[in-house]
Amino acid sequence: MPTLRLYARYPFMKGAVEYIRGLGVELEDVISDIAFEAVRSRGRQRVVNALQMGDIGEVSLVTEYEKKVELLSYPVARMIVSAVGDYYLIRKYALAEATRMERRMYEDYEEYKKAGRRRASNFLILMAESLGVDCLAAGDDFSLHICDYLTMATPLHAMEYKLVHQRVQKGRVIVNARRLIRLFRERITRMIEEQLPLPMDNDIAEALSPYIWEVMDILDDTKDKSFVSDIDTEHVEFECFPPCMKEIMASIERGENVPHMGRFSLTAFLHYIGMSNEEILKIFARSSDFADRIARYQIDHITGKISGKEYLPPECNTMRTYGLCNGGDDLCKKEWMHHPLIYYRACTKRRKK
Ligand code: SF4
Repeated sequence: MPTLRLYARYPFMKGAVEYIRGLGVELEDVISDIAFEAVRSRGRQRVVNALQMGDIGEVSLVTEYEKKVELLSYPVARMIVSAVGDYYLIRKYALAEATRMERRMYEDYEEYKKAGRRRASNFLILMAESLGVDCLAAGDDFSLHICDYLTMATPLHAMEYKLVHQRVQKGRVIVNARRLIRLFRERITRMIEEQLPLPMDNDIAEALSPYIWEVMDILDDTKDKSFVSDIDTEHVEFECFPPCMKEIMASIERGENVPHMGRFSLTAFLHYIGMSNEEILKIFARSSDFADRIARYQIDHITGKISGKEYLPPECNTMRTYGLCNGGDDLCKKEWMHHPLIYYRACTKRRKK
């Protein structure tokens, strides 16, 4: 029977969600109530550590409270990652979670072995069940269905994982515990990558905004911004705005409520193509809920006047995640098109030819 300790260490486990439901904890409380500050803080730490260290980091899991915080921080971290919506971040985060779980699994396997091999192998089979892997005990080793083996081992380039180097018996691949745990890391990485980003609503993004901004800040430092260096910032060419940005501007004109990410994207975009903060402010002044002081602060923050950091608008993938990409036009369909500023740069260059 899985325990809270196991759920805290391996929050992907099947019973973990049920366990959280059983606690009677509401999502609304987790993201905003002061009582859950430690949970949010650990959720933030998981993401920041993933970006900066490639590992979510270890915490004490002695008391029931500590275990609950660790378990609940997993969905918080996933929400922060989803709200940022950046695919580089998703990959970094997924790998960091999987790397930590791999290490924990190995430690636990060694620990269970002290109580007997059967317990240790039952532990890994329990992990396999939660990961949807067909895995059986085979003496001191384990046997995997060949399809599961191939799915997990194919991304690994080391020769030792190639099928020709494996023991195969009746359609099953025999692996030792260490290799099995390594393969589980691949499974967990892919699983998290496929699950994220989660659908986000504005209330969640608003409640978690301090963490989201911080992660965006760190992420921004890791981005290659070289492609913006040759954008012509002398003349703004509205005809070359990508469809996503035209649509956000049209929504503002119509007096619609543009979500935070839409305003952020448009502000950063206008800044990078050479518009001044005053000019950007005039565009937002057309919106129905315009508040001069707040808009000014946000524009100054995004363009680096306050923070010293000029934020890039999000990539096309992130724009899609937030429902800000309306599919685009023919230029958007080019295989190299992955950023609204690349669209603008390509379009302005074409027009000059
Ligand atoms: S593909 Fe990219 S540039 Fe084109 S509309 Fe979508 S987000 Fe904008």
